[in-house]
Amino acid sequence: MKLSAWGRFPVIEARPLHYSGAQELIQKIYGSTSLIPFGNGRSYGDSALAATYIPMRTRARMLAFDEQAGLLTCEAGVLLSEVITAFVPKGWFLRITPGTKLITVGGAIASDVHGKNHHVAGCFSECVHSMSVLLPSGEIQSCAKGDELFHATCGGMGLTGVILDARIALCKVSSKNIEQRTIKTRSLRETFEAFEQYAALPYSVAWIDCMAKGDKIGKGLLKVGDFATDNDLRYTVKNSISVCCDFPSWALNKNSISAFNRLYYHQAPAGESRHRISLDDFFYPLDCINNWNRLYGKAGFTQYQFVLPKDESFAGLNEILKVISRSGKGSFLAVLKLFGMANGNYLSFPMEGYSLALDFKIEKGIFMLLDALDRQVLRYGGRIYLAKDVRVGRETFEQGYPHIEKFRAFREKYGMNAKFNSLQSDRLGL
Ligand SMILES: Cc1cc2nc3c(=O)[nH]c(=O)nc-3n(C[C@H](O)[C@H](O)[C@H](O)COP(=O)(O)OP(=O)(O)OC[C@H]3O[C@@H](n4cnc5c(N)ncnc54)[C@H](O)[C@@H]3O)c2cc1C
Repeated sequence: MKLSAWGRFPVIEARPLHYSGAQELIQKIYGSTSLIPFGNGRSYGDSALAATYIPMRTRARMLAFDEQAGLLTCEAGVLLSEVITAFVPKGWFLRITPGTKLITVGGAIASDVHGKNHHVAGCFSECVHSMSVLLPSGEIQSCAKGDELFHATCGGMGLTGVILDARIALCKVSSKNIEQRTIKTRSLRETFEAFEQYAALPYSVAWIDCMAKGDKIGKGLLKVGDFATDNDLRYTVKNSISVCCDFPSWALNKNSISAFNRLYYHQAPAGESRHRISLDDFFYPLDCINNWNRLYGKAGFTQYQFVLPKDESFAGLNEILKVISRSGKGSFLAVLKLFGMANGNYLSFPMEGYSLALDFKIEKGIFMLLDALDRQVLRYGGRIYLAKDVRVGRETFEQGYPHIEKFRAFREKYGMNAKFNSLQSDRLGL
């Protein structure tokens, strides 16, 4: 069957490895090579793609909840949206959540995802109390912070084995609503100043107009906030709309993106404005449109996300935004986040600094532009996020990830490199 992830590029022929329980999975894995777990396919590129993939959504039971400690034990195929629907009405929420709730717990661990609160709360692995991983030998091993298996698996892109279940810590909330403040900025300098000014608030993210030029480069809307204290826990999932077919690829061009960006920017009042909005609107604005990835056309798209060290972030982003603006490519989705400290996981993406993510439709010349951006990212000491990547070269990748040799040695030691591989790991020699 045809398989692709969220960017719909590449599309490959792949075979699912069906199983009905852990024992059958062990047997099937024993007789196979070149396998990769597949969560909910919300990574953008080729990290979950291989000739044979292990569908994880079939393992989706919640197993236990320790109300005293706020610890949920669940199978790895449970979606974050399922956790939210079950637990927000009881006053619990995820400690760390990315910009979509439509990912599995296993996928969240394997990419060690970050959210809008990375500067204060770190990556998803911070809330993973323990997990069990099915190794190539057929052994199921439990691990926690401090174990090498834990630090290789969190951010390890499914290359150390199959995460079967996990125990994750939730946090207490007293509302399903967020008190959001929107700060309109007129330049990259103002955007940076606003991030620093509001850094005490737990959640922050900025939308940037990537088409802006001259001294307006980096202007945008910073959204910051925290949970309301109104004791309103009546969480319901809103109806979503669907993009029913592929948009023609030409519909997304320099003019349409610039027009959208102008409108989006101008709908916000100058200075600071405040609104109380639902957590879905704050954390997951895109989830209300099913199949929004079709907006980029049949050829698909890719997301380019990098992080630069804090000292270099202003100069680096200024340079990179100039290159993007000059190219006339880019998207209405350009998201800037402030990261806190890096963790000790071998392949986790964040480091202290600023991270920008942008969508690009797949079209002629796009990879040349991204190669040029790679050079700037390396020049400023940054790195590229594997969960979004579909094309980065081995050398660029290696320069950004200092623990890569430890990761390779660990895979080799346990025969993981002979069993678990993706298109991405083959390309990067992981
Ligand atoms: C709209 C949108 C917004 C996003 N926002 C963010 C964000 O803010 N921050 C962020 O960090 N990411 C973000 N992402 C990326 C997304 O969170 C990650 O790619 C996540 O890993 C996807 O999880 P999944 O369950 O869909 O896994 P898949 O996409 O299916 O797989 C991703 C990786 O996880 C591995 N994997 C999956 N399940 C298992 C398992 N059980 N055991 C071992 N390995 C496994 C796969 O092999 C693969 O390497 C966003 C994606 C989208 C579409």
